[in-house]
Amino acid sequence: MNTVAESSALRAEIVDMLYANNRRSLMAAIVVMVALLLVQQPLINHTILGVWTGVFLTAYGARAFLTRQYEKDQQHALHSGRWLQWFRVSTGFCGVAWGLAGILLFPETDTAHQAFLIFALVGVSGAAIIIYSIDTLTSNLFSGGIVVFMIPRFIMHGSSVSLALAVLFIVYVIYVTLAGRSLALSLRENISLRIASNLDNQKVHQLAYYDFLTGLPNRRLLADRLNQAFARCARNQSYGAVLSLDLNNFKGLNDSKGHQAGDELLQQVAMRLQECLRKKDTIARMGGDEFIAVLDELSTDKAEAAAAAQVAAGKMMSVFSQPFQLQNTRYRTAPSIGICLFLGDHCSQADVLMRADIAMYQAKKSDNLNSIQMYDEATHPAIEMRATLENELAFALQANQFMLYYQVQVDAQQQPIGAEVLLRWQHPTLGMIPPDQFIPIAEATGEIVAIGQWVLAQACQQLKCWSHSAATASLQLSVNVSAIQFSQPDFVQIVTETVQASGCDPRRLCLELTESLIVKNLDEVIEKIDALKALGISFSLDDFGIGQSSLLVLKRLPLDELKIDRSFIKDIVYNSYDAFIVQTIINMGKNLGHSVIAEGVEMQQQVTLLQDMGCHCFQGYLFSRPLPLPAFEGSLLSATQPLSKPSHLQQAQALPGKA
Ligand code: C2E
Ligand code: CA
Ligand code: CA
Repeated sequence: MNTVAESSALRAEIVDMLYANNRRSLMAAIVVMVALLLVQQPLINHTILGVWTGVFLTAYGARAFLTRQYEKDQQHALHSGRWLQWFRVSTGFCGVAWGLAGILLFPETDTAHQAFLIFALVGVSGAAIIIYSIDTLTSNLFSGGIVVFMIPRFIMHGSSVSLALAVLFIVYVIYVTLAGRSLALSLRENISLRIASNLDNQKVHQLAYYDFLTGLPNRRLLADRLNQAFARCARNQSYGAVLSLDLNNFKGLNDSKGHQAGDELLQQVAMRLQECLRKKDTIARMGGDEFIAVLDELSTDKAEAAAAAQVAAGKMMSVFSQPFQLQNTRYRTAPSIGICLFLGDHCSQADVLMRADIAMYQAKKSDNLNSIQMYDEATHPAIEMRATLENELAFALQANQFMLYYQVQVDAQQQPIGAEVLLRWQHPTLGMIPPDQFIPIAEATGEIVAIGQWVLAQACQQLKCWSHSAATASLQLSVNVSAIQFSQPDFVQIVTETVQASGCDPRRLCLELTESLIVKNLDEVIEKIDALKALGISFSLDDFGIGQSSLLVLKRLPLDELKIDRSFIKDIVYNSYDAFIVQTIINMGKNLGHSVIAEGVEMQQQVTLLQDMGCHCFQGYLFSRPLPLPAFEGSLLSATQPLSKPSHLQQAQALPGKA
């Protein structure tokens, strides 16, 4: 036996075998008893017969009662020690009852009846010794009970026949006991082997389906339980719920107090959560500090199910009201809980888990710590879309799904002077995705660095391409640069290499920056801009007017152009306040020596007003929408006059050698 578990499992099996034989041995005992009474009754006093029958029935009646009680005990395996003791005691009594038969039913004078008695007792003890041999003490108690009472009686009788019978009886009992012992040994070995392999299987099962740290079901078992819950809910058309629970600031605890404290907290949280849920609910650990609860068959009514799930979430929340004891210090924490209801056949497991997670993140983001959030289909599609885009974005560049559109920029005579390069994501199933939707995601994931680099390389190659034709050689391309891209330590080096590798004229390249970038590390920003300006690249400040830059900061920045944000241009004709701001921006730009371009120009009145204000460069739907390259080049060809140099930059930056 290796472990306590193995030895108690073995004992439980042995006790089970002993009790299982009881009914049959009771039947056999009664048959033998009746035969003995019938055969011996002509020679034995009937009162004595009655006394023995009483003793016999008491012993075997008690045993039948014991067997019944054992069968009724659902957890007899857990109390096998106690049941074994009772079995031994009752077996001892039965042995004594048979031993008394050897005394009370012994006919003094009739050798044939003596032989019959000994024959019956030999049979009974032989069978009992073999049946009980699995537990040596039980077997010995039974045979001992017979031998102790019967043998003295045979010896006391004094005849040579009864003496011989007594000796034979003892030899027989010893022989059968020894035979029973070797049988019992191999039986025990077999049972032990089976138990060990069962326990091994259980161990493998435990490792495969339960979390090592907390003992809760793991991800794999959760999938199985969710499947069952889905099936049940679908069958009964009732709602279930998945609750996603995540501890607040768990990383902080791990960092400040170490992983051991983190592990202790997870174990205690697991224990408390398990206690607070119904038996049929599942609580699983997904890894880290994330737990998932599955609540089954809450209600056929959605509102009722939602209320029940909220109650369960509240219970889970309440187990955090008491502090946890971590390495002798008290620690308080709270979770965020997201809830998603399911009906079983309406969506996939992954969807439900993701939605519960989304709701949980919403709960986390809300100002209220200890918060519970229900997933709401009406408010969450945008979040789901974002999750989808985030996954797909990682492969978009590799899969060649990006393309560039070009939107023309014109001068005072409304002649093309250049274009802004605008990124488009041609998704195979979602179609054309506008940059406003995926650029913020690319910035959040860091993907923007590679994407921006790709845009820059394309723009440089395009400029090189255009340099060969007189109609396009003087066009300028404006490329949007994300703050994250610009803050890369090797930004200057990469832009320099890209421009040089393409062989384009850097004076035709303009980088559009936003004010968000300029707020931090101004000196570093100036240094980078100066380094690239030395190559001939120009810089524009995009979306100007909506940011917070102070005049002082603006004055220090070595820019070439201010691009007035389209939100001011939009209402410039009707809104005198917007018109005033635009006038101020134009004046400021001129004073700083920058050119000024207005974007989002959609109407001729806007152009006229802007011209009056002193702005002579424009971009907007009035001239053209952003177009794919062939359409853009086609629109240039249809322009009546030859293209001029980007005059809006000439004021700010002389183009050496290319006048
Ligand atoms: P942005 O730099 O302000 O680009 C101008 C946006 O205004 C473009 O939207 C353009 O289509 C739109 N627009 C142009 N004329 C008009 C007009 O007359 N009326 C109106 N209502 N809109 C007009 P788009 O192409 O959707 O780009 C949106 C934003 O995405 C850009 O704003 C820019 O911030 C970002 N973006 C685009 N391409 C890139 C890129 O290659 N890199 C980076 N980092 N950002 C990019
Ligand atoms: Ca721009
Ligand atoms: Ca802009």
